[in-house]
This record gives sequence, structure tokens and C-alpha cells, in this order.
Amino acid sequence: MGIKYIDEMALAHKKVFIRVDFNLPMKDGKIVNDLRLKESLPTIQHAREQGAKIILASHLGRPEGKIVSKLSLEPIAELLLFYLKESVIFSHNCEANGNKKIVQDMKEGSVLLLENLRFHPGEEANSVHFANQLSKLCNVYINDAFGAIHRIHASVEALPKIVSVKGAGFLIKKEIEALTYLLKKPKKPYTIIIGGKKVSDKIGLLNCLLDQVDAIIIGGAMAYTFLRAMGIKTGNSLVEEDKITVARDLLQRAKKNQVRLLLPIDHVVGKRLRDDTPVEVTLGSEVPDGWMGCDIGPKTIELYGKIISESQTVMWNGPLGAFEFKPFETGTKKIAETVGKNRGYTVVGGGDSVAAIQAFKSHYKFSHVSTGGGASLEFLEGKILPGLEALKS
Ligand code: ADP
Ligand code: MG
Repeated sequence: MGIKYIDEMALAHKKVFIRVDFNLPMKDGKIVNDLRLKESLPTIQHAREQGAKIILASHLGRPEGKIVSKLSLEPIAELLLFYLKESVIFSHNCEANGNKKIVQDMKEGSVLLLENLRFHPGEEANSVHFANQLSKLCNVYINDAFGAIHRIHASVEALPKIVSVKGAGFLIKKEIEALTYLLKKPKKPYTIIIGGKKVSDKIGLLNCLLDQVDAIIIGGAMAYTFLRAMGIKTGNSLVEEDKITVARDLLQRAKKNQVRLLLPIDHVVGKRLRDDTPVEVTLGSEVPDGWMGCDIGPKTIELYGKIISESQTVMWNGPLGAFEFKPFETGTKKIAETVGKNRGYTVVGGGDSVAAIQAFKSHYKFSHVSTGGGASLEFLEGKILPGLEALKS
């Protein structure tokens, strides 16, 4: 691929800037899920063992170029300290000026975490000036932020173009290997499960993979746009009116290519997305007036489960229902179990899907749990990823 990996590079006595993805899901100032941080530890540890000075940088949320104190990386510095068990220095800004001296005085093997990169307007603007400033902190650049690899942002794109010694970390290596398996040599039958909120987020992937898979399983709110495209009543379910035609086209292409495309045959319906809402299970694929389809029903779980169990390769992206609410978690939970029990090659991706499997504390094993939502979709669509391109010398 023309990209160097961190274990092929000399890091001793170097100032190594590592772009990590510490964009962890937070709720009320608390970290809800630290998968991305944990997955970046092998790269950080390796650089430490090699005797580098390490400068870590990440974004968190969408502060839009302004300082938003609840999006500070400070709580994440504490978590990092917990995992590394040694001093982690936190810098309250992400600019080069204040940090140059800190890096100079740092011991080899120690770690500096910069404040949220997106507090600086230059980050999302892919500012060469901002990247130039950051480049003054280091002599080696490593990207291990797989979740941000599709972004044209200064720390991902402009910066590695400036630093001549650059490469990718272990997390990116692992992600690329796992996703490449899906593109190159998946064992058949190959099934993809696509759920989540919006057709528009995932239609690109569905279009790309249509010729490669044996079955497409659709769940989540997405399913209702497809059902509408088939002329089935969807009640108050979320439907993207402007995507009905796109959905209809995909249904026709699937039919022509003899790919099984499955939609829910029953639903758990509710009045609204709340824990205490009244719920019903429909008899068939129609959603009655006044109700909203919030999860796949028991017959659908059984049907989907059978197809998943018979598959040798499974890729899953997007929850099958509004799993954050107790009455609508079963579909996602059961599908997580079935995918987890499958002894073939199984990949789960998508921010909410990964949050779901972790929230269920399912002990089932997946071949790969991707830390990238949009990034893994774009990779599978064969799109050029700016962060990877910038690493090529
Ligand atoms: P991912 O992050 O895994 O790619 P998405 O962001 O596409 O997933 O979608 C996740 C969201 O979709 C969740 O917040 C979930 O509540 C919502 N969702 C899933 N099914 C439904 C449904 N039937 N009605 C409303 N919202 C749904
Ligand atoms: Mg999401």
C-alpha cells in the first residue's frame, strides 16, 4: 500500500506525534466507552518502549473551532494515566507555542496529551498554517486514528504531508487487515447486516457490496424507507421521503442480481422513543397507523438469525432497533448474540453498534470490532481515504 508501519521505524530519541482517536462517547461529562483509547495503547506503548517522546493529539466532539470546556480531553488524560500507570502530561492547549518547551523538557518514554484539536479552527479547515505549527513539535508523525482517517483535517491530512518521516500505527494496521479480508477473499455465504438510522448514510455501501454478498439483511429505522418503497404501510415510522426512489432502485438491482435482500416481516412498535411507552408486536410487515416501528419483531429475529448462522462471513453495521430504550433493545441484542456465536469471520462496525454490543456486555467473540464508523464504511466502498493517502511517501 506504500505505507510504513510504526514497527518498521526508528523511534529512539525522537519526538513522535501520534494522531489518536480519543473521540470517546461521553454522557454528562463521563466516558461511556473507551474502546478507541484501549485500541491505541499498543502503538503508544511501543513508542514508549522505543524511547521516544510522545505527543498525542485527538479531537473530541464538535466544538467548531472554539473552546468548549465540556469537550476538553482532560478526563481522557486521567483515563490514559490509569492505563499507562505513569505520568501523563496534559496540555491545556493544542498549539505549538506553549507546548514546544514542554516537549523539550520531557523525559524519553513519557507522554504529552494535547487539548482537543478541534478547539482550534485550523483543524477542521485543514489549515496548512496550523499543521505547520504542529509539525514544529515533532520529527516523526504516526497516524493511529482510524476513526478519523476519512477526514480532510489538519492533523490527519495537512500535517503528514509536511513531516517527512511518517507512518501508521498498529490499530490502523489491524483495521486495514480486517476490512481488506472482507473486500478480497470473504468466504461464502457472505451476509451483511445493515441497520441504524439513515438510508443516506449507508446506501453507498449497499450499492457497492451488492455484487459481492449473498444476502443483505436490513433493520433499524432504515428498513421503513425500504418498506415504503415496496408500498407497505409504515405508520409513524421514520421514513426518508427523499430516499424512497433510491431504496426502490436498490431493491430492483438486488432482484436482478439474485441477491437475497431481507426486510423485517414483523416489528415491535411503540408510540414514541421512550422507556415507558406502550408497545405491541405486529402480525406482519405493516405498521399500523399511529404506531412507529422501533425494533424488529420475533419472527424477523428468527429469520435473520437463521441466515446469519448459515453464513461464513458476516459484516454488521447499525443497530436493528432503537436499542437505547429497553422495550426496543431485543432485536439488536439477539442479532449480536447470533453474530457473536458464528464461528466464521465476523466484523462489527459503527459507533452505535459497537456501543450496543458493549452495553449488552455480550461475551461473544467477533473476529473484528472496528473503531471506525464512517471510516470503515468508506474503506469498504473503496473510497480514497485522505489520511491514508497522506501517509504515502
Ligand atoms: P452506527 O453508529 O452503528 O452506524 P447509526 O448511527 O446509523 O448506527 O444509527 C444508530 C441509531 O439508530 C440509534 O440511535 C438507534 O436508536 C437508531 N434507530 C435504530 N432503529 C431505529 C428505529 N426503528 N427507529 C428509530 N431509531 C432507530
Ligand atoms: Mg451512529
